[in-house]
Amino acid sequence: MKPALLPLFVAATLSAPALAQTPASTPSPKSVALQCGSLIDVRGLKVEGAHTIVVTGKQIARVDRGHAAPANATVIDLKRHTCLPGLIDLHVHIGGQLARGSAMESFTLNPADYAVRGVANAEKTLMAGFTSVRELGASPGVSVALRNAINSGVVKGPRIQAAGAVVSTGGHGDPTNGLRADLMGSPGVERGVANGPDEARKVVRQRYKEQFDLIKISTTGGVLSLAKSGDAPLLVDEELKAIVETARDYGMPVATHAHGADGMKRAIRAGVQTIEHGTYLDDEAMALMKEKGTWYVPTISAGRFVADKAKEGGYFPEIIRAKAEAIGPQIQGTFAKAYKAGVKIAFGTDSGVSPHGDNAKEFGYMVEAGMPALEALRAATLSAATVMGMEKQLGTLEAGKLADVIAVPGDPSKDINVMTKVEFVMKDGVVYKSAK
Ligand SMILES: [Zn+2]
Repeated sequence: MKPALLPLFVAATLSAPALAQTPASTPSPKSVALQCGSLIDVRGLKVEGAHTIVVTGKQIARVDRGHAAPANATVIDLKRHTCLPGLIDLHVHIGGQLARGSAMESFTLNPADYAVRGVANAEKTLMAGFTSVRELGASPGVSVALRNAINSGVVKGPRIQAAGAVVSTGGHGDPTNGLRADLMGSPGVERGVANGPDEARKVVRQRYKEQFDLIKISTTGGVLSLAKSGDAPLLVDEELKAIVETARDYGMPVATHAHGADGMKRAIRAGVQTIEHGTYLDDEAMALMKEKGTWYVPTISAGRFVADKAKEGGYFPEIIRAKAEAIGPQIQGTFAKAYKAGVKIAFGTDSGVSPHGDNAKEFGYMVEAGMPALEALRAATLSAATVMGMEKQLGTLEAGKLADVIAVPGDPSKDINVMTKVEFVMKDGVVYKSAK
């Protein structure tokens, strides 16, 4: 075999210069120049004047003052708009949509039904200006399949980081809560139910094998499960330690659904990255979060939405309605308290509870509760990108970052509700929505 190798090697070496010339003769990718009336600097919390963002391929090549565009660039006129980095929602459920009587859907719909709905919801999310999301719990296989289909350009949607839920038996997310005995069975790791540190490790490893990006857990009860308590702690310290340590081995952060203070504190002490909802966050929990650097993802949208629906007779089964009425109205107040206390806050809505595509309504709720508009915008850009571990690629309009750019017809620092009127969306340098 040896003699045959030499001529092959020589031939490869001789042809190398010819190969090397090929890229030089290929035209460089055409640039696109976005002429923005103004743009938001979420790092400096400033509204800047006229700028041109030059995009080459998937990336921002440069950001210049004024409206001069490179000679060969395709110009997109956004002179009447404010440009911002693509928005990030850290808490969505892409396949589902809460509706009157939808508690029954878990008995009638298959994963394929949720997947098809997820395709439509993903497009709504992208068109609302959200170019990245964390998917925090969907029907088996749905979020990973959707993420992969979006990445390969098969369907339109935001960049997705996907998680699956981990709970203890009977906890928020146990799919057999409230069922008839013969349907209840004994759900295990495959259905996201873990008891004891061994199963807790197993469920994390299973999620890794299934190609999830992060781990979602529930450390307290929740509003929309067919179980009595919305705030009782779930999972004990040794289970939490096993989850966080195993996830860390795979580089997977842990996001925790929590309403009650006890379950929240256990999770913070165990080293989770984010507390989702955080309804009954108390002073001790906030101090712990500041000490540990834990992020708070408030989801005021979900709280307001279920509180409203709890007033409509028959919208929820009674076991859920009572919890929606008690917990829903609290979250905006919790957010105000956490902001004042200096807890790190990043943007998340729990869309799928509130309608997909209405994600930007959260900005109005944040500002109403006392956060300045530019800080709310930072929570959905630079801060959320940091939570996703993508602050070097996303979250600001700077050279070298991925070209995720949106534009709104007005100044959101003066009227935050303009964020619900996104008229231009670019993700990875591709225009998905054009300004009128
Ligand atoms: Zn959720």
